[in-house]
Amino acid sequence: MAGTVHIVGAGLAGLAAAVRLSQAGRAVVVHEATGHAGGRCRSYHDRATGLHIDNGNHLLLSGNRDALAYAETIGAADRLTGPAEAAFPFHDLATGERWTVRINDGRLPWWILDSASRVPGTRPADYLGLARLLFAGDRPIGEVIACEGPLYDRLLAPLLVAALNTDPPVASAALAAAIVRETLGKGGEACRPRIAVGGLGSVFVEPAVDWLRGQGATVNFTHELRRLELVGDRVAALVFGADRIDLAADDAVILAVPAWIAAVLVPEISVPQTHRSILNTHFRVRPPAGMPPLLGVIGGAAEWIFRFADRVSVTTSNADRFMREPRELLAEIVWREVCRATGLDGPLPPWQIVRERRATFAATPEEDARRPAAATRWQNLALAGDWTATGLPATIEGAIRSGNAAAALFQPRRSVL
Ligand SMILES: Cc1cc2nc3c(=O)[nH]c(=O)nc-3n(C[C@H](O)[C@H](O)[C@H](O)COP(=O)(O)OP(=O)(O)OC[C@H]3O[C@@H](n4cnc5c(N)ncnc54)[C@H](O)[C@@H]3O)c2cc1C
Repeated sequence: MAGTVHIVGAGLAGLAAAVRLSQAGRAVVVHEATGHAGGRCRSYHDRATGLHIDNGNHLLLSGNRDALAYAETIGAADRLTGPAEAAFPFHDLATGERWTVRINDGRLPWWILDSASRVPGTRPADYLGLARLLFAGDRPIGEVIACEGPLYDRLLAPLLVAALNTDPPVASAALAAAIVRETLGKGGEACRPRIAVGGLGSVFVEPAVDWLRGQGATVNFTHELRRLELVGDRVAALVFGADRIDLAADDAVILAVPAWIAAVLVPEISVPQTHRSILNTHFRVRPPAGMPPLLGVIGGAAEWIFRFADRVSVTTSNADRFMREPRELLAEIVWREVCRATGLDGPLPPWQIVRERRATFAATPEEDARRPAAATRWQNLALAGDWTATGLPATIEGAIRSGNAAAALFQPRRSVL
């Protein structure tokens, strides 16, 4: 395999594919439509707050092995930080109660037996439902476990909606099970929160572009693919507006663009059709002393509050209901909730609201079934992206795993000798 692999899209899926193939010694050219890499996972200077912010807070867990391996390869793993234990503090806005779920290390979930570590108001038997989820197949979660009661309201709903970005009762039990298997099911070692405190770009994006260029790969910005010429069972050419690239016999293409763009470029492939939004609200404020890096909020528009040195940032997943609300009103509502949950006080500080309307595909069984494999019927074309059939919901881990899977199709085979 001597030809060039053209990777279209410099989101995390495309960057991961490029890193894998460069490591394997293949010539790589990345083509990105915009002027920056990172796609839906990026950092930038925001004028309203005067801060460097992320488009949205991104939470990883220590069990996200492919994401962490990718960060390690590009030399950025030490920029992900988080608590030394798998501890998840919560605040209930309705009752004012606070508690911390502490997941012990090791596969035996002793924390469920300890009333100080499990969710207040729950009994160990309540947690058995989680095991049902593991063997439910691709059915809606609401058909498998009770989507009500203290365990659901105070732990499962916040975790599931964050991981699936879809209302849990209608979301896929199979995708939820994949998350449980790779994190909760492995114990505390796999559940430690990992946060890009210096911004997503400084962990996942800029180091990747620098690393790729250092390896001799080419990364082109403002180079939007407009058309693929498909001839027989091959991609014959890539057309980018002003220029075109005719592919040699051993050149290949990885299409790592969002689902809705892939569907336009290659109408024959199946892609998820519906998406869900995520709302992020950033406040320029010094976080109060003792505030945890991540705080779960029950009963508000705010769901997870992230602490950074110069701001607090709030995530609301599955947020379609907030997409038409006036921005000022949303900022005020979320700020009041932040004050109640953290002890902050005072008038609305400088703020920014970022609404990502198509943040992820809707993680329902129907949409999961539409996700295509990395390999296509065209010999030199592979697909990557969080929307391809990774078995995971649309996450950083899923995007990176999809890039690795696409890269594996064009990696030189290892000698058996
Ligand atoms: C607000 C928000 C919060 C999130 N929170 C989390 C979280 O807490 N944890 C987590 O794990 N995940 C989270 N995610 C999901 C995660 O960001 C995505 O799964 C991941 O970034 C998707 O990467 P991707 O490479 O598949 O797609 P994208 O990031 O969409 O990358 C596709 C790239 O292709 C480029 N492109 C498009 N068309 C063309 C073209 N014609 N030619 C060339 N290039 C093109 C785009 O510009 C883009 O750079 C969140 C997402 C959002 C939006």
